[in-house]
Amino acid sequence: MRKTKIIATLGPATDSPEMLGKMIDAGMNIARLNMSHAKHDWVRRVVKDIREAAAARGVAVGILMDTQGPAIRTGELSTALDLKPGGKFTFTVRGEKSEEEHSVDVNYDNLVNDIHVGDVVLVDNGEIQMKVLKKSANHIECEVLTPGKLGSRRHINLPGVKVSLPALTAKDLEDVALGLELGVDFMALSFVREAKDIRQLRAVLQSCKTPPRIVAKLEDQQAIKNLKEIIQETDAVMVARGDLGIEVPYEELPIIQRRAVKYCLRIGKPVIVATHMLESMINSPIPTRAEVTDVANAVYEQADAIMLSGETTVGKYPLKCLEVFNRVAIRTERSGGANFQDNAELTNAEQKMVKSAVVMADQLRADAIVVFTVSGTSARYAAWMRPQHSPILAICDSQRVADSLTLNWGVSAFVSDLSEMTREKNISVALGMLTTRGALQKGNTVVVISSIDVDGQYVRAVQMRKVR
Ligand code: PEP
Repeated sequence: MRKTKIIATLGPATDSPEMLGKMIDAGMNIARLNMSHAKHDWVRRVVKDIREAAAARGVAVGILMDTQGPAIRTGELSTALDLKPGGKFTFTVRGEKSEEEHSVDVNYDNLVNDIHVGDVVLVDNGEIQMKVLKKSANHIECEVLTPGKLGSRRHINLPGVKVSLPALTAKDLEDVALGLELGVDFMALSFVREAKDIRQLRAVLQSCKTPPRIVAKLEDQQAIKNLKEIIQETDAVMVARGDLGIEVPYEELPIIQRRAVKYCLRIGKPVIVATHMLESMINSPIPTRAEVTDVANAVYEQADAIMLSGETTVGKYPLKCLEVFNRVAIRTERSGGANFQDNAELTNAEQKMVKSAVVMADQLRADAIVVFTVSGTSARYAAWMRPQHSPILAICDSQRVADSLTLNWGVSAFVSDLSEMTREKNISVALGMLTTRGALQKGNTVVVISSIDVDGQYVRAVQMRKVR
C-alpha cells in the first residue's frame, strides 16, 4: 500500500464522470479545485461527480478547494495574446481601457503604486517578463522582454512587495461560502502572510458544524518569514513551489521545502509538496529523470502528499502522471525515509499513547495499525509518527471524518456504524470488515488503538491482536 497521498487538480482534461472514476482507480486520494479558474456551476457539478464516483467504489476521496487569495491576476482575454520581445504591453487598473493593441486589466488597483519604472513584471509563473517603461494613474506601460502567450487570469508576481490586498478577498468569501455549502473537506488559503490570515479564515468556517480543514499555502517571502507561526496555526501546509520559486531566489526553494516539511513533522501538521513535479508530462508520456528524482525526494522527506496541477488540468497524460506518482512513491517508500518525526514534540497523553502503539507496531512488524477514531485525531497522530511498516487502517463512524483523513500519510479510512455494539464486539466486527475488504488477511498481527470498557467506563487502550 502506498503511504504518500496523491492530490490531482481537476480541469478540462479530467472533469468528466468517467475520467474521475479512472483517476480514483489510478490512485487519486484528493481532487483539487483551483478557484482561480473554476466557475461555481462547474464546481457544483464536479463535486457531485466526485462524491458519486467515490461512493460507487466505497472509497474515501477528499475534495480540496483552493482559493485564489490575495493574488494579483490579469483579467479575461477573448483570445490569448502572442507577445514578442520588444513589443509594447499595457496593464490597466480600475476598469480603464487602453489604446494599446496588447493590453489587459489587473484585479489590483495598487499595482500602479507598488511598481516602479525600470522594474521587471513577472507574469504566468515568471515565463513572461516585461520591463516597466512608464506609468500613469491607471496604466502601466511595459516592454516585452521574453516571448510568450498570455491567456486569461494569469498570475503576476512582485517578489518582496507587500501586496495590500486582504487575506480573503470578496471573491474568496463567495468561493468559501460555496465550499461550505458543498461540504468540501479541505480549504486552501493562498498567499498566507501571517498566522492572523488563518484565524480569519477559521472564523468564517466556524458557521459549519464540521468545518473543512485549513491548508496554508506557503508561496511568498512573508510566509517564509512567519513560517513557524503559520504552521502552528493551520491544520495543514502546502509548499506551493510555483509561486514560491519566483518569490524567493530559486536556490532557496529546496532548503525552504525541507525546513517546512521538517517543522510540520516536528509539530504534527500534514504537509503537501506541490507544483511542477511532472511538468514535462503535460506534453510528454514519460517524466524527465530530474522529475522522478524530485518526486522521490518529497517521498523520502515523507511529505504527506504530492500534488499534480497543470499535469492533470490540461495535460495530455493525466492517468500516466498518476501511474508515475504511484510507482515512484511505492518504490521510494520501500527504501526508507528521512524520519524527521524522530524529533516530534509530543504535548499530550493521547499523542504519547499513540506513539507507543506505533513503536509496538514497528517492533512487531505488525501488518496494520487499526485505529478507532470518532474525530480522526488518533489516526492523524498515528500518521504523524510515521510507522515504519504498518499501514494505518482508521475505523470512523462518518464519511465526513473518513474523507478528512485522505490527506494523512499512510492512512486508509473505512466507515462502519459501530454505535450499537459493545466495545469488544466493535473490534471483531471491524477486523472482519477489513478482512472482507481485503485490507487484512487471516493470521495477520495488528495493533489496535480503541476505547475499551472498564467497570462501565471507557478508557483508550492499545492491544495486539491476531486476525481470526
Ligand atoms: C503554486 O504556486 O505552487 C500553487 C500551488 O498555487 P496556484 O496553483 O494556486 O498558483
